[in-house]
Amino acid sequence: MKLAENLSRLGTESAFEVLARAVAIDAEAAAAGGPRVINLGIGQPDFPTPPHIVEAAARALRDGHHGYTPANGILPLREAVAADVLARRGVAVSPDDIVCVPGGKVTMSFAIMMFGEPGAEILYPDPGFPIYRSMIAYTGATPVPMKLHERSGFSFSADEVLAQVNGRTRLIIVNSPANPTGGVVPKSEFDRLVAGLERWPDVAVLSDEIYARMVYDVGNGGGEGHVSLLSYPQIRDRLILLDGWSKTYAMTGWRLGWGLWPPGLAEIATRMAVNIHSCVNAAAQWAGIAALTGPQDAVDTMVAEFDRRRAAIVPALNALPGMGCVDPRGAFYAFPNIAGTGLTARQFQDRLLAEQRVAVIAGTSFGDAGEGFVRFSYAASLAAIEEALDRTRAFLERAAA
Ligand code: PLP
Repeated sequence: MKLAENLSRLGTESAFEVLARAVAIDAEAAAAGGPRVINLGIGQPDFPTPPHIVEAAARALRDGHHGYTPANGILPLREAVAADVLARRGVAVSPDDIVCVPGGKVTMSFAIMMFGEPGAEILYPDPGFPIYRSMIAYTGATPVPMKLHERSGFSFSADEVLAQVNGRTRLIIVNSPANPTGGVVPKSEFDRLVAGLERWPDVAVLSDEIYARMVYDVGNGGGEGHVSLLSYPQIRDRLILLDGWSKTYAMTGWRLGWGLWPPGLAEIATRMAVNIHSCVNAAAQWAGIAALTGPQDAVDTMVAEFDRRRAAIVPALNALPGMGCVDPRGAFYAFPNIAGTGLTARQFQDRLLAEQRVAVIAGTSFGDAGEGFVRFSYAASLAAIEEALDRTRAFLERAAA
């Protein structure tokens, strides 16, 4: 068989590989009666989907919602998204510009496929979610890393980004709050980026705001809350906004996300949907309406719990030998610098899992700029986090001995 050449450029998300290895090691540990694996590698909330959302899906199935739906999503779902965008981001948008898809990743891939082709350049955050680079390379476009800086809480510098833009640049991807760093881009940096983009009216922007509801320190120590790129009317006609239900409502397995598209592009995204997946699972769409229009207390409780864990994990990481961690202001990840341990990111990841049964993800899984860093997800109980950090200390002390 001769496979398509561009497949050789398709990357992956190594969090899934680490998860598989962690599950295998855990099964051995369970059989042998040894200490079990603590998984801080995982990128999903450790909470169940709130019951009223589950019930809405069950009801939809009982009520006979078993068939295809419109490819862009049922109208009440897109209306609920538009109402949520107005309530939370303060901007009135049309349900016609919203396309509901099976997860945040699909909006990402559609956007990259719309702009990516040989000769084109697409800027993406490094370290950043690995699928950006993977999909850019797959389309044949040139992936241009946009460096995020530890010294500025893993924000980009707008001046540096603008210096990388040229006549071949088609799309700039930004992600705040960010995976894997927990970084939140300050409004001042977005202001400068948007102002600079006035010189480049043909460059589109994909703003991945999937962690928008998970922002900490708001009104405290300079925290500004979530700044959406939708609040800049200057780029509204070239902004693709990505969000979804996976993280906010603990619904990663449901596969439900949405994109808000500039004029004309929702139709293209819908055509892509017709070609690839037809529509999102009908019952999940009814669950998505219940999530957006129902009580939000479960979200608030989950975010408050993440904040408590953040307050525990960051000082504990800073107290480990050779490690230092800037305060993550969003999402549920800490991204400590491990340069002082003398280990590479990959050695740290592999040895910590093999020797102490703690799963974390090497920073290099998120781009070249991730060397010297490791991602700890704090989507795990406080007790598990504390135990994982005790084991990490034991690991570092033995590695240094
Ligand atoms: N964007 C970012 C930054 C993510 O971290 C993730 C998931 O980890 C996604 C998008 C994809 O989310 P989904 O599971 O809804 O496809």
